[in-house]
Amino acid sequence: MTTRILAVDDIEINLRLLEMTLEALPLTIDSAQNGIDAIELAKNNEYAAILMDINMPVMNGFECVEKIRALPLHRLTPVIFITAAGNQANYVQQGYEVGAIDYLNKPFDENILISKISILLALFNERKSTEEALAQVRLLQRQHEQLLNFTAEGIIGLDIENIITFANTAACTLLTAKRNDIVGQSIKDFIDPLSNNKDWMASEFIQTFNENQCNQNDNAHFWRNKHAQFPVQYSQSSIIEDEHRKGGVVIFQDISERKEIENKLVNLAKFDQLTGLSNRALYWEFLEKVTANSQRVGDNLCVMFLDLDHFKNINDTLGHDAGDLLLVQASERLKGVLRNADLIARLGGDEFAVVLQQMTSINDAANVAQKIIDAFSQPFHLFGKDSYIGTSIGIASFPEHGIDAITLTKAADTAMYHAKKSGRNNFKFFDSDMHMRIQSHLEVTNDLRLAIKNNHLLPYYQPIMHIAENRISGFEALARWNHKEKGIISPGVFIPIAEESGLIEDLGQFMLLAAGQQARQWFDGDHKKTRKHLTIAINVAAKQLKQKNFSQQILALLEKNKIAARHIKLELTESALMDDPLDVIRQLNDLRQAGVTIAIDDFGTGYSSLSYLKKFPIDYLKIDQSFIRDIGEEKNDEAIIRAIIQMAHSLGQKVIAEGVETPQQLEFLASLGCDYAQGFLFSKPVPWREAEQFLPMQ
Ligand code: C2E
Ligand code: CA
Ligand code: CA
Repeated sequence: MTTRILAVDDIEINLRLLEMTLEALPLTIDSAQNGIDAIELAKNNEYAAILMDINMPVMNGFECVEKIRALPLHRLTPVIFITAAGNQANYVQQGYEVGAIDYLNKPFDENILISKISILLALFNERKSTEEALAQVRLLQRQHEQLLNFTAEGIIGLDIENIITFANTAACTLLTAKRNDIVGQSIKDFIDPLSNNKDWMASEFIQTFNENQCNQNDNAHFWRNKHAQFPVQYSQSSIIEDEHRKGGVVIFQDISERKEIENKLVNLAKFDQLTGLSNRALYWEFLEKVTANSQRVGDNLCVMFLDLDHFKNINDTLGHDAGDLLLVQASERLKGVLRNADLIARLGGDEFAVVLQQMTSINDAANVAQKIIDAFSQPFHLFGKDSYIGTSIGIASFPEHGIDAITLTKAADTAMYHAKKSGRNNFKFFDSDMHMRIQSHLEVTNDLRLAIKNNHLLPYYQPIMHIAENRISGFEALARWNHKEKGIISPGVFIPIAEESGLIEDLGQFMLLAAGQQARQWFDGDHKKTRKHLTIAINVAAKQLKQKNFSQQILALLEKNKIAARHIKLELTESALMDDPLDVIRQLNDLRQAGVTIAIDDFGTGYSSLSYLKKFPIDYLKIDQSFIRDIGEEKNDEAIIRAIIQMAHSLGQKVIAEGVETPQQLEFLASLGCDYAQGFLFSKPVPWREAEQFLPMQ
């Protein structure tokens, strides 16, 4: 597009003259012969210069220029007035007032006009390109601002004094402040210098700028509204020009959500979700830290292990929701007794641990333990039911029982185990005897494992008599351990160990096979006629019964070894039946179908829920020897024996009395119609060769 100028003169010839003069210049000339036309042209065109005659009819040159200069397009357009000679002096002032930059007298010097117009052209072109560049810059600036305002990150511009000069929309939103309340403030008002625990001038933020550096901080806090903090991640960078810092930029993000998730994960990893107490991981972490500290400073501390007594009963009878509720209530009671500084952890199941710090004496721990036991003496309200649950507590103290987390924990656990053994609902301190006992316990377990493997176990047999017919009805097989150094060891010593270590299953299999083979040899073949109704009773531990395919295992073993099921009687305790009644009933039915008979052992010492017992497919009840022992002395027990026998008979079950030692006892039992008797009165348990003497001959 060519550059234009406007020439205004009422005499056409003058206009032509101007055109001819300026012919050589790169421009287009618009011409008008009166003010009205000139203004019209000026409305629609931009001119590098205006050449204006002064004396014109209708509207003189001054008036015309004044109107043109009022148009926004022409506020700065230079005007040269062309005047007739001699008039100049009168007009000068008036001309400058409306914006003239120069005067030319008619007739004008062509060269002067050309050079003046050339300069104005050059200026105009210069101005144009400056304006374009400026427009470009403005456009870029607008684009940048939009970009900054649309990003989700807060962006803040700072001057050299760390005063905020710019804040994007996100920054205003995140800081919940108006832009006007942010711009002009010091960034100090928005950053929490305590984020890095230093005063402002020494803070990492200021240091970074002082060193003209950039920095990222993933764990800072900014102020929102000047009173609420929120977690941010920010990066700051210095703006450097000519090697000097001119200011800085801070870009930040609200990381509340991320922090929340992180906290949740930490929470999951360190706290028990049911009770809110510390979990096992945090317990170890804490104990390791405080034992290390106590080793340095010499403080006392105690570790307590707690186990709820009979928690399993609650789960089994009232359901898992009640169990969970109990755990929550139990942890509340613990919190009520303990101080804030004490760590309370749930290690899993119904096991809790407490770490007590700064104990003045061991009595402190005893007091706390007693307080816990007292707190547990109140009933727990579980869905409308009151349940009494005690707790057994083991205590180990630093440094007497150990100076590291593992030793202290083991000691507290051992002490708790002993608290349970000695009647529950009490507390025990660890002592070195316990240590010896654990040690020998471990040795015995290993020995027993080898004994089972090497056939050093053997069954002894104790006859069971039919009272009314005064004849043998069979035997109970009782395990003995033939120890190469210690001689014959009784099951009272090794059965509990076998149960704890899981060896009881191997032991049970061994006894079943040994006794079954003995039964086959004694009762079948040539002797079938007189001995075919005899049985050998085998004791079954609760743990064995828990195996899902218990009945199949037994029946498979019998079949494989050609042992007739009718010769086998299994003795189970009441508590074993109650563990999973439905499953037990199913398994017992399978066994009975195959011909195996079932006896309840030690009857009267367990739950003794007579009505419950009806549901089980049972052939015999064995009255516990504690009742028999007191015959002739305790009237109450005699009444109980009478009731048991009557009840069993009414359910179609036979009764066996255990531990019959005297003729009086036997007589009394006979008078009540008791079916069978077993005890030292007839024989102790003896090896098979001696037991054989009791068998009826052909
Ligand atoms: P239990 O099943 O109640 O066995 C009866 C216990 O009473 C036997 O003790 C027996 O020797 C004893 N006894 C028998 N008659 C009399 C008597 O007239 N007076 C007195 N004072 N005691 C008498 P033992 O053999 O020491 O067995 C103890 C317990 O060990 C058994 O009690 C049983 O629970 C368990 N046990 C024995 N062998 C096995 C086995 O093979 N497997 C399992 N799971 N447990 C076994
Ligand atoms: Ca028994
Ligand atoms: Ca018994």
